[in-house]
Amino acid sequence: MRLLLFGAPGVGKGTHGKRLAQERGIPHISTGDILRESIRLATPVGVKAKAYMGTGGLVPDEIVIGIIEERFGKGDVGKGYLLDGFPRTVPQADALHALLARLARPLQAVLLLECPDSAIVERITGRRTCEKCGTPYHVIFQKPRQEGICDLDGVRLVQREDDTEVKVRTRLAKYHTETAAIIPFYEKQGIVRRVDSFRAPDEVYRTIESEVANL
Ligand code: AMP
Repeated sequence: MRLLLFGAPGVGKGTHGKRLAQERGIPHISTGDILRESIRLATPVGVKAKAYMGTGGLVPDEIVIGIIEERFGKGDVGKGYLLDGFPRTVPQADALHALLARLARPLQAVLLLECPDSAIVERITGRRTCEKCGTPYHVIFQKPRQEGICDLDGVRLVQREDDTEVKVRTRLAKYHTETAAIIPFYEKQGIVRRVDSFRAPDEVYRTIESEVANL
């Protein structure tokens, strides 16, 4: 399966993407996850990216394109891949298209997850993650048994630095002005499938599964 999960921040790309990739035994490739790890390790890329991510802005194209080229160079995409959060601009989409053509591993489908902005703000600002194992929670929709503590390992839950309301609104604006402009590029290829993600997570996941059943 060669799939791109597309949509605004907070529509569920990360949650559903991790689950689907794990079930299919293919890599879940998220530029956001790779960038956060680079910041944690204070690599040269992490140091450069931190300032952009901290404000909710986009990291420059050449940095994220470099990350994706390096990631696809690992040679573990023979069975497929699931992309999440890349591409986010038209130049990134062009670079990805060229890279996948070179590797003879073109996208089979783009799942476009759709959700109203007002619901996204509520979802993202309530999002919490285990500092250690990365398990996602929500202060209203997916509470841990003990407030602020991971059910699995008892470690503290944290909020992402860019999940505050002001930064979420900046990220949504970037999505609507820059990222959504990519959709026609994939529509022309006839590979876009729309999924209503303004529903219970399990229901959304079942729809996703049926959309990719033939891939
Ligand atoms: P995400 O985890 O996908 O929501 O990404 C978190 C942040 O990482 C974004 O708000 C951007 O600052 C940065 N980022 C992730 N992927 C990209 C990308 N493809 N292009 C530019 N910036 C990105």
